[in-house]
Amino acid sequence: MDLSPILNPLNDAQRAAVTAPLGPVLVLAGAGSGKTRVLTHRIAWVIQAENSSPHNILAVTFTNKAAAEMRARVEKLLNVPGSALWIGTFHGIAHRLLRVHWREAGLPQGFQILDSEDQQRLIKKIVRAAELDETRWVPREVQWFINSNKDEGRRPQHLKDGNDPTRAQLIKLYAAYEESCARAGVVDFAELLLRAYELWRDNPALLAHYRRRFQHVLVDEFQDTNDIQYAWLKLLAPPQAIAAGQQLAAGDARPSYPFVVGDDDQAIYSWRNARAENLQQFRRDYPQAQLFRLEQNYRSTATILEAANGLIAHNAGRLGKQLWTEGARGELIRLYAAFNERDEAEFVTHRIREHVARGGLRREIAILYRSNAQSRVFEEAFLSARVPYRVYGGLRFFERAEIKDALAYLRLLSNRRDDASFERVVNLPTRGVGAKSLDVLREYARGAGTSLWEAAGACIAAGSLGARAAAAIHGFMALIERLAGETRALALHEQVDQVLRGSGLVEHYKRDKADRGEARVENLDELVSAARGFTPEASDLPPLEAFLAHAALESGEGQAGEWEDCVQMMTLHSAKGLEFPVVFLAGMEEGLFPHQRSTAGLDGLEEERRLCYVGMTRAMRQLYLTYAEQRRLHGVDSYGQASRFIRELPEELIEEVRPRVQVSRPVAVGRFRPEEPAVAGVRLGARVRHGKFGEGVVLNVEGSGAHARVQVSFERQGTKWLMVQYANLEPL
Ligand code: ATP
Ligand code: MG
Repeated sequence: MDLSPILNPLNDAQRAAVTAPLGPVLVLAGAGSGKTRVLTHRIAWVIQAENSSPHNILAVTFTNKAAAEMRARVEKLLNVPGSALWIGTFHGIAHRLLRVHWREAGLPQGFQILDSEDQQRLIKKIVRAAELDETRWVPREVQWFINSNKDEGRRPQHLKDGNDPTRAQLIKLYAAYEESCARAGVVDFAELLLRAYELWRDNPALLAHYRRRFQHVLVDEFQDTNDIQYAWLKLLAPPQAIAAGQQLAAGDARPSYPFVVGDDDQAIYSWRNARAENLQQFRRDYPQAQLFRLEQNYRSTATILEAANGLIAHNAGRLGKQLWTEGARGELIRLYAAFNERDEAEFVTHRIREHVARGGLRREIAILYRSNAQSRVFEEAFLSARVPYRVYGGLRFFERAEIKDALAYLRLLSNRRDDASFERVVNLPTRGVGAKSLDVLREYARGAGTSLWEAAGACIAAGSLGARAAAAIHGFMALIERLAGETRALALHEQVDQVLRGSGLVEHYKRDKADRGEARVENLDELVSAARGFTPEASDLPPLEAFLAHAALESGEGQAGEWEDCVQMMTLHSAKGLEFPVVFLAGMEEGLFPHQRSTAGLDGLEEERRLCYVGMTRAMRQLYLTYAEQRRLHGVDSYGQASRFIRELPEELIEEVRPRVQVSRPVAVGRFRPEEPAVAGVRLGARVRHGKFGEGVVLNVEGSGAHARVQVSFERQGTKWLMVQYANLEPL
């Protein structure tokens, strides 16, 4: 058998890891050193050289995109269809297991997935139903309490209140939330993982079956696993059994072997309860694990790599590794200080155009940002400049209100007990179902322990609703039943189309002239296209259910145009594991990145720095850093300073780009430079007063005319750059 296609594309260290004798393996290595390549080749290796079958493989990656890539790579290496392999995200795999074993997992067959926004809405309802003050029991905080307990494997009955009334109340809310979910037949993201864990833990025969089946369990990005994910992995590959099994000759007792790869410098999900300590814990749990380190980076130019190494060196308590490359020095990192967020987007648009004019592809370019909301300004600039783009991850498409409305109808079709969906659309389009009638239904549902759908039926029968409301709700229920009947035999996209029209949603948005009605109708049309282009991964589900699960799990990835040559946009968090020839890190401002919330604690700041490291190491050839001195985000203006991360980079690796203003400014932002001329009457060193920021001293001036700007150190508000034209500075 020719193993050279598997082994040739590897360096010595990588080859050693790929061909390691069967047993637990840990690969600990920095960005771009080939961890994912090693994991993929290991799959091919155990199939070809160790006589495993593709059915014996369970591979966990971080995103659906990464899973698809891995599947394709294995297919290419082995020349076999990758569909036999179980490759997916933890959530995707847990979901697949629960669909197959819904009965053992104690779930209704048609259970639905509750995304984070739905979850918050449900919690809000529960807080209200308990007659608690929402400002004291903030739904988002309750949500955090529930999810972090689930992520650590704790149900309400495991929690002790320690005589703390606040905690006691939170535990009660958690229990009430669980009841509601069970009643509605819905499962949130954290629940998927916990349920899948309990499924195996509590069903030894089932677990034994999967242990026999998955002889190899491989996990990418191991540094971002949480407690429950790791516990789940250990169920499949129990350390004690491995220790004992290695002395055994053969037979059933052979356990699954974990093969995990990770990088502590890229741990960026601790806010979602991930534990980078799992890397060290793995070595304690599997003392016989073979450890491999990879140090050569194949992705980035020497300049980019050195800058990234320089940045991450500011973190303490690292496991420590130094990456090197044989690659070219490459171009300097470009820094652009934009006047505001629109200028930033224009600059990026301009550079994209240049790239394309030189024969480059748009898909080689990624725009990475800290916060989802930053994408909108780029989207607008790209739309008007006709630059095709695609937003990944960030729950764009399926998060849109009109799409969620449509999905709510579809979800009700497949599960009448889905209360969140019922509430969302029972009066959309308006049918005359008021808040009071809904209260009656809720009250009844709570008392009788039923869903709202059942409550509605009962309340209509009992005459406990007003005549108008009863007729409206009855009409709504009849509509759902009718749509379900009419669409049962249709193809998925026809089903979606008919529900959109039959429900009156399309009409509703068409009439809505003021609030982007037209764009919303277009989005609804896009949903039909998404349904048309949809191919379910696991064929054991009815298409509609598979599609709804897809919508909840893979939000954003259903957008049309994946095949098109388009600019890639995503948050830094979702860029993990990916690489692009050209990367723009946008919004490099204090408060935005590092994020305001994270700068208080050292841990938070270090995680932000790792996030920046992840962002920089996505770049292969060119890296741009941009920031805006004035930014309007969520409707609020702020005047930012350049991110401290810019200052932490080795200065000689950076070149500042200032295409519009003649004066260039050194990287060390805010240095006093007396040779600067006065601009628009504002002199260096002068004392000035600003309407909002109070009094300060002019530190820096540059540009002229409409672009003239000054940097002022305000006594109370810190240092800011201002446009002279708008700042109305008063000399003192
Ligand atoms: P990250 O930490 O960002 O997830 P990684 O360690 O998983 O990175 P890979 O994505 O596997 O790294 O590899 C980075 C790039 O280097 C890829 O383009 C990969 O194809 C290439 N590469 C890896 N190993 C080699 C090698 N031995 N020879 C040539 N190219 C390689
Ligand atoms: Mg990787």
